[in-house]
Amino acid sequence: MFEQFDLDSELLASIKELGYKKPTSIQELVIPQAMLGKDILASAPTGTGKTAAFLLPIAQHLLDYPRTQPGFPRVLILTPTRELAIQIGQDSEQINKLTKIKTGVITGGVNYGSHDDILNSTTDILVATPGRLLEYIENEQFDAREIEILVLDEADRMLDMGFSEAINRIVGEARWRKQTMLFSATLEGAGVIRFAKEVLTEPEFLESSPSRKEKAKIHQWLHLADNAEHKFKLLVNILKQEGVDRTVVFANKRETVQYLSGKLYSEELPCVWLEGKMPQDKRNKSISRFKSGGIKILVATDVAARGLDIDDITHVINFDLPRKVDIYIHRIGRTGRAGLKGTAISLAEAHDMMVVGKIERYQDERLQRRVIDELRPKHKESRVANKKAKVKLSTAQKKAKAKKQSKKKVKKSKAK
Ligand code: AMP
Repeated sequence: MFEQFDLDSELLASIKELGYKKPTSIQELVIPQAMLGKDILASAPTGTGKTAAFLLPIAQHLLDYPRTQPGFPRVLILTPTRELAIQIGQDSEQINKLTKIKTGVITGGVNYGSHDDILNSTTDILVATPGRLLEYIENEQFDAREIEILVLDEADRMLDMGFSEAINRIVGEARWRKQTMLFSATLEGAGVIRFAKEVLTEPEFLESSPSRKEKAKIHQWLHLADNAEHKFKLLVNILKQEGVDRTVVFANKRETVQYLSGKLYSEELPCVWLEGKMPQDKRNKSISRFKSGGIKILVATDVAARGLDIDDITHVINFDLPRKVDIYIHRIGRTGRAGLKGTAISLAEAHDMMVVGKIERYQDERLQRRVIDELRPKHKESRVANKKAKVKLSTAQKKAKAKKQSKKKVKKSKAK
């Protein structure tokens, strides 16, 4: 129950209006600690409810210590992409709907003049992408010294996207802050931890371990494929199945995205596509066609899909498996959101079985194999994944093995 947190009635009423019945696991962990003013280092992928986990304590802080005079923003939330910034901005407006707290969003990809309103009036919570905000700081249009709370959202993505220098500069500017919260989908890469050590002071380390129910929302399947051509046939078959309504298809390369979108059209499967270097207006157009439901299939690379925030994605299909586990986790986290069921389907060739093994070990769960009758693979499953899995024994298994071996020795010596 959200009533367990010491939140003002205006906030509880907005939560109720949003339809949140009870806190998600990351909210249970983060909200009480953040309300004590502690620095937070949290591992929470998108879809876990992390946005409200930081927005609620922030709102409560602003209500507890109201502003005495107009000025620059008191809270700064840095996030990697424009879409994510807009989404967080909207969430903040919803949560603060019944209060006087003002939210503003500053991102690249729009005219400079369009931020005048935010820069010249009093905004309490500013959501921004690092690049554009730094420009305003350098031009002395924005002063970060009034920031009391700093949030680094999707820190791993921001670092991946090469924002580390911009963030470091902004973090330095916001040096009078009292609290910093860092959220990252995973804390796997050394980069995030190193960065966290620099910007956080005695942080509370909080890791969302989604409850079984939250976890079970995403069904994960694997189809074995002989080659790229076979993968395409599987893809078409899956996309034509009933219930496959709003689907994101991931490919690893830009060329594959283009190739796939062309081929899907020839199969009478209209789709939109996104790639990293697309002009902003074209990108917005693709996203809105997909969001409005006019087109049901979106084909994208990971870079292009960063920050894409669409709630009711029914299926994520990995046409190519990513090379890293954390990317896989990010991809599948795009479905099964807001309490809906989601399906993640991966198409794997023999050379993908190594990463499949890693994914299975990370999740401690085997990806369920599925076969489409008329498209059965000719080749058998490569045994790489199984071999590796066998090597890794649990402590109980190790003990059992040792016991067995010592029994064998005893038998041998008795025989002698
Ligand atoms: P996020 O991980 O912050 O992107 O949130 C994912 C989705 O979950 C968003 O659509 C939120 O509106 C929704 N959400 C956040 N917290 C809750 C909650 N406690 N109960 C139900 N839905 C929630």
